[in-house]
Amino acid sequence: MEVDFDVAIIGGGPAGCACALALHGKGLKVALFEKEVFPRDKICGDAIPGSAFKAMYSISRNWGDQMTAFAKTTEINSISIFLDKTTVFKYRWKLFSYNSKRMDFDTFNFQLVRNETDTIIFENKPLQKIITEPNYYECSFLDGSSIKAALVVGCDGANSVVKRQLIKSDPSDRNPIAAIRAYYKGIEGIQSGYNEVHFIKGVEGYFWIFPLRDGWANVGFGVTKKRKQKSDSPTNIRKILEGVTQSPAFAGRFKNATQQGQLVGFGLPIWTKQRRICGDRFLLCGDSASLVDPAQGHGIDTAMWSGVIAAEQIISCFQATDFSAHFMTGYEKKLYKKIGGELSRSYFLMRLFTRFPFLMNVIGGVSLPQGLIDWLFRKLKI
Ligand SMILES: Cc1cc2nc3c(=O)[nH]c(=O)nc-3n(C[C@H](O)[C@H](O)[C@H](O)COP(=O)(O)OP(=O)(O)OC[C@H]3O[C@@H](n4cnc5c(N)ncnc54)[C@H](O)[C@@H]3O)c2cc1C
Repeated sequence: MEVDFDVAIIGGGPAGCACALALHGKGLKVALFEKEVFPRDKICGDAIPGSAFKAMYSISRNWGDQMTAFAKTTEINSISIFLDKTTVFKYRWKLFSYNSKRMDFDTFNFQLVRNETDTIIFENKPLQKIITEPNYYECSFLDGSSIKAALVVGCDGANSVVKRQLIKSDPSDRNPIAAIRAYYKGIEGIQSGYNEVHFIKGVEGYFWIFPLRDGWANVGFGVTKKRKQKSDSPTNIRKILEGVTQSPAFAGRFKNATQQGQLVGFGLPIWTKQRRICGDRFLLCGDSASLVDPAQGHGIDTAMWSGVIAAEQIISCFQATDFSAHFMTGYEKKLYKKIGGELSRSYFLMRLFTRFPFLMNVIGGVSLPQGLIDWLFRKLKI
């Protein structure tokens, strides 16, 4: 049976674009199907981690340079973690990174795929259904059209259709962290180059202020979801964020600030354990494979690395003419070897601080030498 495409990538976020870029020039007919039309927004903290740049450089020096130059003016090299306005940690990292609105950053990546690869792009094309045939998949879209592909890559985010249709659901697959964000202009006391994360006594969750260009900032709040509790409902989280910005600790900084656009929320598919993320003729990348770092909430870098490693696996599959689930596990092994250890450490830390929140107070009460903080962060590869 003739297929329409060797590879169908579903979703054009960081994972899908990295996969398409890494497949460029490998002699495969690749198509990318995206639900939205770019530029499109994505709810995020907009902090593009240093490791995301490494992933792009691993594909191409030129594309790495283009990504670096794209938002150089909002370079971020430090994080300050506060407990009730007191700085608990300050950490300066070495890898280059910046903050960029996802509307802009994702469009940059998508344009790179559009302008510099042979990928055939379909926008406004939500995948609806996948039918498994012996030697290919038939993908059907909301507009009634369908295509046949030898291999499917699920890069369609936290509510992945590919995952839901090709992998038996696991109760632990729900997105365990809920977060909201809004853009603000004119917040006072923002330090250039610094991202701020705040923990507030009596408030479960964490609050962030990440500076953007032109005096804008991404302000958000995240909380761990608990079963049978209303505390993580969008209305409640919204109230908490409003309460924080109006509290005596922050009211001064927000007094001249204006909210830009809507306050919006989304779930974070954090890493909890190694799980099945591939099978006969398919692979999952990024959020669809639950690769968000549990302690820090970043997932752009892991999404891009998974796209790169998926592309390597795809090339091996075509070279060996082997698309079996067994052969495909090479992807899981390589990916988990690269990022599994780090994500497991983060999950341990997240559970430790969620279970024993007083630890924050203990750490806050002890003034640790900066050298020890740097060593700890480096050891944890933060
Ligand atoms: C509130 C919040 C704050 C965050 N902050 C940060 C941060 O500061 N730094 C960081 O690194 N990470 C952050 N993350 C995580 C980060 O946003 C994700 O890990 C990252 O976007 C994953 O990339 P992806 O390509 O896997 O998925 P996505 O970026 O979600 O891209 C998926 C793409 O697939 C498309 N799609 C979906 N369904 C279909 C379909 N049926 N058919 C076709 N296309 C489809 C979507 O339109 C989208 O373009 C945050 C997440 C949240 C929710």
